[in-house]
Amino acid sequence: SFVESLPKTWLRANLTPNARVILEKRYLKQENGKVAESPEEMLYRVASVIAQIEEKFGKGKKEVKELTKSFYEMMAKLEFMPNSPTLMNAGRDLGQLSACFVLPIDDSMEEIFDAIKNAAIIHKSGGGTGFSFSRLRPKNSTVRSTGGVASGPVSFMKVFNAATEAVKQGGTRRGANMGILRVDHPDILEFITCKEDNKEITNFNISVGITEAFMKAVQEKAQYNLIDPHSKEAVGQLYAPDVFTMIVDRAWRNGEPGVIFIDRLNRDNPTPQLGEIEATNPCGEQPLLPNEACNLGSINLKLMVTEKDGKVVVDWERLGTITRTATRFLDNVIEANTYPLPAIEAMVKGNRKIGLGVMGFADMLILLQASYASEDGVEYAEKIMNFIQTEARLESQRLAEERGNFPNYKGSIYDGVRPLRNATLTTIAPTGTISMICGASSGVEPLFAVAYTKTVMDGTALIEVNPIFQSFAEEYGFNSPELMRKIAEKGTVLGFSEVPNWVQEVFVTAQEIDPEWHIRIQAAFQKYTDNAVSKTINFANEATHEDIAKAYELAYELNCKGLTVYRDGSREEQVLSTGIAK
Ligand code: ADP
Repeated sequence: SFVESLPKTWLRANLTPNARVILEKRYLKQENGKVAESPEEMLYRVASVIAQIEEKFGKGKKEVKELTKSFYEMMAKLEFMPNSPTLMNAGRDLGQLSACFVLPIDDSMEEIFDAIKNAAIIHKSGGGTGFSFSRLRPKNSTVRSTGGVASGPVSFMKVFNAATEAVKQGGTRRGANMGILRVDHPDILEFITCKEDNKEITNFNISVGITEAFMKAVQEKAQYNLIDPHSKEAVGQLYAPDVFTMIVDRAWRNGEPGVIFIDRLNRDNPTPQLGEIEATNPCGEQPLLPNEACNLGSINLKLMVTEKDGKVVVDWERLGTITRTATRFLDNVIEANTYPLPAIEAMVKGNRKIGLGVMGFADMLILLQASYASEDGVEYAEKIMNFIQTEARLESQRLAEERGNFPNYKGSIYDGVRPLRNATLTTIAPTGTISMICGASSGVEPLFAVAYTKTVMDGTALIEVNPIFQSFAEEYGFNSPELMRKIAEKGTVLGFSEVPNWVQEVFVTAQEIDPEWHIRIQAAFQKYTDNAVSKTINFANEATHEDIAKAYELAYELNCKGLTVYRDGSREEQVLSTGIAK
């Protein structure tokens, strides 16, 4: 723990009133039911705990102090934010700093219920868990010790779900899970339909683990084998196009299941000598080995622009500095972390995976006056992520020279190629909460609405306008309360003649963007991301099954690692909707 308190002269965090409210609700230290620290004190708590790790690597007091200040400043300026558990727990009793975990589930009662217990411990600390249910024997197989029959993966998912529901009450945030089943598991059809009813298995996102063999069978209109997880023998066959259609149909109906391309995750597994990747964290952006965890952090691209000769351009110098400081920060988090289980600690400290990503990409494009749905947008995505990945790797190499390679380096894909402190460096997280804290668009998603109406407690309707849109409206002379009200009703600016065409183009929203552009942006980021990209591909309500099937095929073709689709209005309870918010 840290001794000194926040120096009075350090800058005040650049938080909106809304962001301060979010922090008060969940993130700030509480004593006797009262908020016991300011947002600045929270950031200082995080910065000093993470910087102090450097003492372990021989840094003196002065250097630690300087680093504390750099860490503090990049958070206070909202240029970088670590994942929520780091903000909540650093320097406090829980001390659990990672957002992402994958736990193994082996095919015995003991191991299944061990996983449930371990997930509960992780949820309590604000982490999310992913599981592969693929090792479980199929429904109706015999259970040797009792002579009974097994109930199968889906029945156990319901037990995991119920446990999560119960833990929700006491934890820092509601628990989240990812459940994965390989497409060649004999129970795959039951799995694909297990969330048909929106009220079932609500604490899980589910994804089908798609193999290359399956995709080939879909393309060739052929049967493929179902494999028994124990004997590894083929125990049946299904017609691949039918299974594919079934996945598409359920995704069309309510967005689930998603798909992950499991062989691709393993093609990019940096430490194949340790085993296979079977699952990802809840939102799909972080493939991990069993018992592995990862801490994430995101750079706010909205702030990585500058003016040059009267034109807004990417601030490469700033982006480079933040990337290097953030990489060091995230490597230190691994040391400062308190791990929920010894097996997880061993795995994490062996691979030292970190997941540096971005938020505010859509905001940045708007400032650069480029449309998300354009070649320019795709080009920026590639350039930015290529730059971040390159700089992060260079910094990890420097850290390796200073502190040593990650311990499982020998036998890894980097063995003999280059020194490296971290088996992976980059991940694109959804940034659900931290983007709100930073007042930025989330992850690499486009804007959801340009303006919307928010009904506050006493029933009055407030119009929230995207701040960049508001400032453009003032600068280019089309600001009027009447216009904002009309835009808020519609959610978008397309077709408003008062708004210049180029502004309409750069403020394009999720629903207006053709799914192909959504996927091309995802693929552009994936190209330079070690782990995976969290992204939702939005479809209009009128989209057909064929549109969704085409999206899967395109994502596969463009080397994405998975796909999540969502058709507007296809779930009764939609988190975000344009028009009047309820
Ligand atoms: P944040 O913005 O709060 O840092 P993200 O929205 O970027 O988090 O999510 C990153 C990861 O954090 C998710 O993929 C998941 O692993 C974990 N996570 C997010 N929300 C929850 C939750 N409510 N409970 C448990 N884990 C969560």
